[in-house]
Amino acid sequence: MPDPQENQVMTLEEWESMWQRGMTGFHQPTVYRLLQINIDKVLAGRTGVKFFFPLCGKAVDMKWLADMGHTVVGVEISEKAICEFFEESKMSYSEEPVPTIPGAKVFRNAEKTVSLYQCDIYCFSSSLEGQFGAIWDRGAFVAINPKDRPKYAALMVSLMAPDCRFLLDTMLYNPERYSGPPFCVPNEQVHSLFESYCDIEPLQEEDALTEDFKNWGMDYLIEKIHLLVCKS
Ligand code: SAH
Repeated sequence: MPDPQENQVMTLEEWESMWQRGMTGFHQPTVYRLLQINIDKVLAGRTGVKFFFPLCGKAVDMKWLADMGHTVVGVEISEKAICEFFEESKMSYSEEPVPTIPGAKVFRNAEKTVSLYQCDIYCFSSSLEGQFGAIWDRGAFVAINPKDRPKYAALMVSLMAPDCRFLLDTMLYNPERYSGPPFCVPNEQVHSLFESYCDIEPLQEEDALTEDFKNWGMDYLIEKIHLLVCKS
């Protein structure tokens, strides 16, 4: 069956405009519950883990992890989102250009435990910050344009250190009823894109149908957490 969302596109300008207009209903003011529940599976006993946050927005999870002694690198196109993250976290920060990416900037807190790159995710690579011990993907794989999923998956795999634990949050609903984002990501696609490189463990699945999503036309919405680890 063809995917009705296959050709959906949201441009970087449209995302920026969402931030400028305050249309950021995806932002959660508290640490994401499904991250909190599954954090032990991600850390697997490790301390001082280097986390990657693709399409990070101003997720408060980044401060939560930094306060626990981990380091965080995020990538986000909207400078407004990045500045709001540091301001709302009460972290002083500085910015500098990224010499290898024209127009990009990196914002870091004084302790350098949080570094947020303001650029298109596809400009980011392991040459900037090396590989990561963990990835938290909430509102990222479901937010990129569906046609870009193979490119995005290849980038994530390239950023995974051999011991990386990648927590991926996806949404399942009837794509005939809502056009996205968040886009619907079938389980088969998670498998087809990652299974050559990663073992994939389904960790959790829950009903996420809120009144807002019902008002958008959805009749069911399942949120699913997958744990991806590099094949040995
Ligand atoms: N992960 C965050 C934000 C989710 S919304 C959270 O859970 O709250 C998706 C975010 O990705 C938006 O903030 C948008 O500005 C950003 N974004 C979308 N496409 C992007 C791209 N190609 N590169 C970098 N950031 C992007």
